Amino acid sequence: MSVHEPNRTRVLVMSPTASVRRVFQARVQAAGYDVWSGPEGSACDVEAVICHLPGSGMGALAILQDLRDAHSDACLLVAGRDHGAERTATLLRAGAFDYLATPVAAGRLEEALRQGLEVRRSFLQVRALSDKLQQANEDLARERDSLRRWNQNLVLVNDLSQSFAGTLDAAEIVQMVGKRLEPMLNLDLLGVGWYAPARVWVHAAPAIDPETIRRAQAVLLAGGAGAGGARFAGPPSAPEGPVAATPEAQATHGPSLKGRVLEVPLRVAQEPVGILRLQRGSEEPFESYQVELIKAVTTSLALALRNAEAHQQVQSQALTDGLTNLLNRRAFSNILTREFREAERYRTPLCLIMLDVDHFKSVNDRFGHPVGDRLLQEVAGLIGQAIRTVDIATRYGGEEFAIILPRTDVAQAQVLANRIRELLAQQAFLADSARFGLTVSMGIAQAPDPQIATVDDLVAAADEALYRAKTCGRNRVETNRSARDGAAQTMEGPVYQREKAGVGNAGARC
Ligand code: GH3
Ligand code: MG
Ligand code: MG
Repeated sequence: MSVHEPNRTRVLVMSPTASVRRVFQARVQAAGYDVWSGPEGSACDVEAVICHLPGSGMGALAILQDLRDAHSDACLLVAGRDHGAERTATLLRAGAFDYLATPVAAGRLEEALRQGLEVRRSFLQVRALSDKLQQANEDLARERDSLRRWNQNLVLVNDLSQSFAGTLDAAEIVQMVGKRLEPMLNLDLLGVGWYAPARVWVHAAPAIDPETIRRAQAVLLAGGAGAGGARFAGPPSAPEGPVAATPEAQATHGPSLKGRVLEVPLRVAQEPVGILRLQRGSEEPFESYQVELIKAVTTSLALALRNAEAHQQVQSQALTDGLTNLLNRRAFSNILTREFREAERYRTPLCLIMLDVDHFKSVNDRFGHPVGDRLLQEVAGLIGQAIRTVDIATRYGGEEFAIILPRTDVAQAQVLANRIRELLAQQAFLADSARFGLTVSMGIAQAPDPQIATVDDLVAAADEALYRAKTCGRNRVETNRSARDGAAQTMEGPVYQREKAGVGNAGARC
């Protein structure tokens, strides 16, 4: 065995016969190669193997298998007795490069070795190229996947942005995002916690239990899990109590990647406006491309929600009376129209109370307009206290209020109206250190009613009843004519009884 010089081709010579081995080795060396001799030598570190097999020659098949097992790419030359073309062909098909019949003629071994090494070099080049090609293909596939994802993200963001343009309802916007992302990201729940005013909107997959939704709402209302959602990295049984996290604290965090909950701050022009929370039932973590997708959505989501909230604020300002904070006349018209239609469609009773403060002009005259304003605020507050949550109190104008009572018949409305009347009549109002009382008169009309075809008819009927209450002495509740012709009765208060004699009824039947 010679010492190997770097860059020289090494050939392993194997033969059970030492003399043959020596001859082959000498010839290989004379041809300019390094020799690595066997029979036991390893085929791993050589470029070619010359294997002399004195028997059938088929032992070469086992050697070929060994070479394959050792991942050797050495070329194999088999030498042995001439067994005929068929056996030679079998060995060549099995992977041997050449079969050299012994005795090997001068030059035959050298030429076969040269050609074998040449073919091996070409093979290795092709294999290296093919490896590179495969690598390039894999890179391309990865690139294509990431482009496809980007494209999906762009399409999603574009679709959602367009959908957002179609609504100014924040809850609807969150539902849109939830419905879209729920299947894409295998979500149980998607929710938004809005900071100012504090609001929470949640979209949950159909199978999600109310307790999970309630807990998510509580967390969102508290400003998110805080500290990058780390508290939620644990198993589903991990405690999920509300965590106080200020908007400022959230602003310093990027998306939290841990576990099955992802929270992303929502910002408009860098200002934190809320938090987006995504929950998975499974423990499968959010992948970075999914986080990218969510981040891409949050920008337009934050803007859409901000617009919806701004719109909501303008809307509610436009529908709120500045002095009393009750709904204004415009809101009254909208709501009454809606409730009137509902009452007609479902044949459920709807009552309208028109309420007017008695002799309010004299209050202004006595104490001045600013005091009158404050008293109107107090009256509005007391009306708000007296009504049920389903009822809608509005300022109709001046010292007149309108109260809409859905699914309420005239008898129930009378009870409620008298409760308001009594509450106000018993109240001691204060102005300029004087204590005095205020009373109100009310007219009630009910729909559906054969005499009442439109919303205006309903208002006119309640007005008519109010007029009766005034002309019949004030501090009393009257119903409109058709309700009165039915079961309803006039209810009167003590002031009316006191004033009755002096005021006169201006032709009304009291
Ligand atoms: P009646 O019992 O017949 O309803 O007598 P009244 O004095 O309440 O009725 P009238 O319609 O003669 O006067 C209504 C008064 O309510 C006159 C007006 O100055 C006062 N008023 C209307 N709107 C406001 C308001 O916003 N602030 C104040 N301070 N007063 C108001
Ligand atoms: Mg009045
Ligand atoms: Mg009036």
